[in-house]
Parts: sequence; structure tokens; C-alpha cells
Amino acid sequence: MVNQAQILEWLQAFATEIEQNKEYLTELDAAIGDADHGINMDRGFKKVSSQLPSLADQDISSILKTVSMTLISSIGGASGPLYGTWFLRASTAVAGKQELTEQDVLELLQAGLDGVLGRGKAQLGDKTMVDVLSPAVEAFEQAIREGKKTQEALNTAVVAAEQGLHNTIPMLAKKGRASYLGERSIGHQDPGGTSAYLMLKSFLEVLE
Ligand code: ADP
Ligand code: MG
Ligand code: MG
Repeated sequence: MVNQAQILEWLQAFATEIEQNKEYLTELDAAIGDADHGINMDRGFKKVSSQLPSLADQDISSILKTVSMTLISSIGGASGPLYGTWFLRASTAVAGKQELTEQDVLELLQAGLDGVLGRGKAQLGDKTMVDVLSPAVEAFEQAIREGKKTQEALNTAVVAAEQGLHNTIPMLAKKGRASYLGERSIGHQDPGGTSAYLMLKSFLEVLE
């Protein structure tokens, strides 16, 4: 079971992870975009981080919804609406839940991914965060079908996310700014996929 306190811890851990990787994410975006992904994400998650104390009494769904609104209003760029949608759909998926079962976490992850797919219209292989989020959801689902508990299933999902992230390197970008580069986008790791991997990794860390 994942409780409300762990959700708050996860958001703080992700904010810290983004802060620590701000330059790395920006460098990745400098290679195939406009060199702002770390700056964008850090702006949004600094805001989230500052709001967390005031969310201590809220339920999981409300917390995720506030994060969504904050990201949409503060990030800008492609990643603002995409992460905003991920958190909004995640929020809706767990409405009314005090604690999250394995199935609830699956629904949260699946809803977040569906939101990104609906909003960004990227397909698997387009060199976006979808290439990280999608294999992670699949691995999580498979793991719980095999009877694994959330932590172990999320561990499997993070391994799949890391592989998915690595797989973005040889891809030709078909969505977002990187797609403007055509063939020159090949050979670089996707910045948004990298932050999505950090999001899942920090979720796992608070369960350990
Ligand atoms: P911008 O490209 O507007 O500067 P960011 O640099 O913050 O925004 O984010 C870029 C990341 O957003 C990309 O690395 C990619 O993972 C993700 N992205 C861009 N377009 C899409 C899309 N249509 N669907 C999914 N993810 C996308
Ligand atoms: Mg950018
Ligand atoms: Mg930009």
C-alpha cells in the first residue's frame, strides 16, 4: 500500500532529483532542443516543493491535482502541459483513495500515460517521454499480474523505464522540437524521457 505521506515524499524526492539534474537535463535538451528542459522542470518543481507543506492535510488525489495545476501554470514549453496532464489524470485515477493498492498504482500510471498520449499524440518510438512511461506501465502491469507487490512491481517498471530511456538514443525524433532536427536527432537521449525516468525512480525510492 502507498499512503498519502509517501506521495508527499515522492514529490519532494522528485523535486530534489530535478534540482540535482537540472544542468544534465538542460544539456540533453541543448543537443536536440532549445536547452531549457532542466530549467523548465526545476521552475515547476521548485514551486511544487514550496507548496508541499500546505498540502499535508490533503488527500492523495487533491495533492496530485494541485501539482498538475502548478506545473501547467509554471513550466511552459511542451513539458508543462504534458506533465500537467500526467498529474491531472493520475489525480482522477485515484480519486477518493486514502491508500493505493497495486491495482490503484497501476491505474495511476496508466491514466498518466494515457493523458500524455492524448495530449501529445506521440507514439512509441517517436523519441519522447512516452518511450519511457509506456514500457514502465507495461512492466508494472505484468509484475502485478504475477502477484508482485507495489515496490517490487515498481522496481521492474523502473528497470523497463531505464531500458526505454536508453532506447531513445538511436531513435529519430518525430514529435516536439527535436523532430525539427530530423536525422540529427539520432544519437541523443531524450530529455523528457530522462525526467520521466527520474519521476519513476524517485517514486520507487520512497517505497524502499
Ligand atoms: P520544449 O520542447 O517546449 O522546450 P521541454 O524542453 O521542457 O519543452 O520538453 C521537451 C520534452 O518534451 C521532450 O524531450 C519530449 O520528451 C517531450 N515531448 C515533446 N513533445 C512531446 C509530445 N508530443 N508527446 C510526448 N512528449 C513530448
Ligand atoms: Mg526545451
Ligand atoms: Mg522550450
